[in-house]
Amino acid sequence: MKQKLQKIYRKSLLYKSGVEYADYCLNHVEGCSHGCMYPCYAMMMKKRCGVIKNYQDWIKPKIVANAIELLDKEIPKLKDKIKFVHLCFSTDPFMYEQPEVEEMTLKVIARLNKDKIRCTVLTKGVYPKDLIDTKKYSNKNEYGITIVSLNEKFRSIFEPKASPFLKRIKTLKRLHESGLKTWVSMEPYPTPNLVKQNLLEILEKVSFVDKIVFGRLNYNSAVAEYRDYKNFYNECAEIVSKFCEINKINYHIKFGTVTNSTVKKNLKSEKIFIRQLKPNDHTSLSFASSLSI
Ligand code: SF4
Repeated sequence: MKQKLQKIYRKSLLYKSGVEYADYCLNHVEGCSHGCMYPCYAMMMKKRCGVIKNYQDWIKPKIVANAIELLDKEIPKLKDKIKFVHLCFSTDPFMYEQPEVEEMTLKVIARLNKDKIRCTVLTKGVYPKDLIDTKKYSNKNEYGITIVSLNEKFRSIFEPKASPFLKRIKTLKRLHESGLKTWVSMEPYPTPNLVKQNLLEILEKVSFVDKIVFGRLNYNSAVAEYRDYKNFYNECAEIVSKFCEINKINYHIKFGTVTNSTVKKNLKSEKIFIRQLKPNDHTSLSFASSLSI
């Protein structure tokens, strides 16, 4: 039998984020069993702050047991300021094969939605059917998955305990088919020396979504080892923007991904989940919204 996750207690939960596409955020879990090797920026930060000791520590998630009590206290004080809440920047809200995490995440979303606070969600896990119940969960929420490849061998190395790519897409499509807003984060997109793949093939698989966020891989020396990586990311950004324009999908190219002027650079301060432009408006301030680490 799987061991119960350890519990921790926090003093606060909601916080204002400085991240490019976010407003308020929360992390109701400490650590993440997906154990990504890109590397995981959240893990690096927690290590630097002394919250965790090492990778082994990180991949043993701990649930914030008082998350709902904290929301009960914080929501009345903050709800007029909050435009939306992003789950999550420092963990994964639908961690694969972690039912306790899923259960707590559903409670958190339902609690926020009860006060008409909409959520943007991003996972490398799978989405439960429960979210289709719009009596409990707002139909204004936006559900996203991170997809940077379709190659399972690559996933088993870089996202060892995350869900298989096609399973991820399948559960997102189910939400889309139920009329909910969906999006994809193609970040951190790997260079060809890490995996040889066809970007268009990946885009085709997720062409049902409302938004696509594309961003380069950071904090990995393998990128600079790929001779023409700047040009590679410029070309990828062009492919993503053209694909999205043709298919009338909103898109956002993350800050620092492109170095040429043909794809307009995005301002770091833009709020991609707030400002919704018409699908054929592909100025740098494209759609409003969020992240993979
Ligand atoms: S899913 Fe996100 S938080 Fe979890 S290990 Fe991977 S990058 Fe880190």
